[in-house]
Amino acid sequence: MIHLGQELNKLVNRGLDRHVRLAVTGLSRAGKTAFITSLVNQLQHVSTNPRLPLFPAVSDGYLLGARRVPQVDMHVPAFGYEEGMQALLQSPPHWPEPTRDVSQIRMALRFKPQKGPLKLLQDTATLYLDIIDYPGEWLLDLPLLEMDYLVWSKQQARLMTGRRQQLASDWLAAGETLDPFAPADEQALARLAAAFTDYLFKCKAEAGLHWVQPGRFVLPGELAGAPVLQFFPFLWLDKYTEAQLNEAGDDTNIGMLKRRYKYYQQHVVKGFYREHFSRFDRQIILVDCLQPLNAGRESFNDMRHALNQLMQSFHYGRSSLLRRLFSPRIDKVLFAATKADHITPEQHPNLVSLLQQMVNEAWQTASFEGIHMSCTSLAAIQATEPGFVDHQGKQVPALRGHTLSGQAQTMFPGEVPRRLPDDAFWQAQGFDFVSFRPLPQQSDEPLPHIRMDKTLSFLLGDKLR
Ligand code: GDP
Repeated sequence: MIHLGQELNKLVNRGLDRHVRLAVTGLSRAGKTAFITSLVNQLQHVSTNPRLPLFPAVSDGYLLGARRVPQVDMHVPAFGYEEGMQALLQSPPHWPEPTRDVSQIRMALRFKPQKGPLKLLQDTATLYLDIIDYPGEWLLDLPLLEMDYLVWSKQQARLMTGRRQQLASDWLAAGETLDPFAPADEQALARLAAAFTDYLFKCKAEAGLHWVQPGRFVLPGELAGAPVLQFFPFLWLDKYTEAQLNEAGDDTNIGMLKRRYKYYQQHVVKGFYREHFSRFDRQIILVDCLQPLNAGRESFNDMRHALNQLMQSFHYGRSSLLRRLFSPRIDKVLFAATKADHITPEQHPNLVSLLQQMVNEAWQTASFEGIHMSCTSLAAIQATEPGFVDHQGKQVPALRGHTLSGQAQTMFPGEVPRRLPDDAFWQAQGFDFVSFRPLPQQSDEPLPHIRMDKTLSFLLGDKLR
């Protein structure tokens, strides 16, 4: 009888175990690697973690424990949690090396069900949490699915002004001599594609621009060096008629560019949405709002544009492109302004308000059916200590930390604007967001953070009841 009861219990357990696939994204350097490292670390310390008062599953004691388990998708690289922790535990501590591709880690969370059939049937239940990390740049490619090669080239030609044009000058000069109707010259195309990719990297590194297309070119993952990434937009359109360009054979230079673009659309862009995106349940989008505030107006506006593009992927209107590809199932999206420890605590509400304004326009004009959306600010790994300093007889808020080169600093980094910055703001720009190195860390203690508990509660709270 006891034996039967145990078997029944096992079956019930198996039937009622839950899964959630939590996707973590953001443009490069938004803080994805730090976030996942901290998330796994907070969960691993869950039974004794004093740092999660705003995560009721922990503060009320019904999340009993969490451990890493082998991932199920064996073809997806594993997220480097151990490597990240090793870097943080060094003396002096280092930031984890960011991942450049999709990666994954699986946790099993044991909890005491609080309501519903699970409470009646089981003492404890398990939630399997798959955390999937992927570059936000890949979401910038969604609009490519609705443009053929020449339409895309025209769009790229329109954007080739100002700073972008300057940064593209080498590629533009080299590309001008390409005869589109000559027999396809693979080596010439590879050279031009490399010059175009170089320009995209410069947009990010030299101008702080985030909107780069195709997104895989800057974060190619396993596709590095593959011919599918050896194309570029053909900007010299006014030298030829549309009919000439449309009718060129497959074996010409332009024919080869068109074929590679099409392959990229069908296999790389669609492949990501089919294999990964369509299976996500929850999504957190990390945004570093402070870097573009530091870098200036063009970088800030470009970041807004990139976020707008990125949000198209959550636009599930009935006739949307994504609906036609698959039935999406993401039901919660959290936007999080990262690195909140770079500013003093009284500035945190401003940071959230700014992020809300950055995403609101796209959010309101699109239809995000059935998705619950929220905004927050957080520091996955807190690297500064807030306090006050005496300034001309007054106590003013300040941060204390060590710069990446190890210099001790106490500073007030600046005020974050509550609203989208106007001309006056950019003229009087007074920001100075320094990068800090992580605080020294004990291996048996959870990582210090800001609002990871609130974030966990939004993303997982309802799955642990
Ligand atoms: P990814 O490219 O999105 O994976 O970004 P990372 O997680 O590698 O973060 C990029 C850099 O941002 C790190 O090397 C840190 O310098 C900084 N950073 C990320 N998260 C935090 C945080 O919570 N606090 C602070 N102070 N810096 C952070």
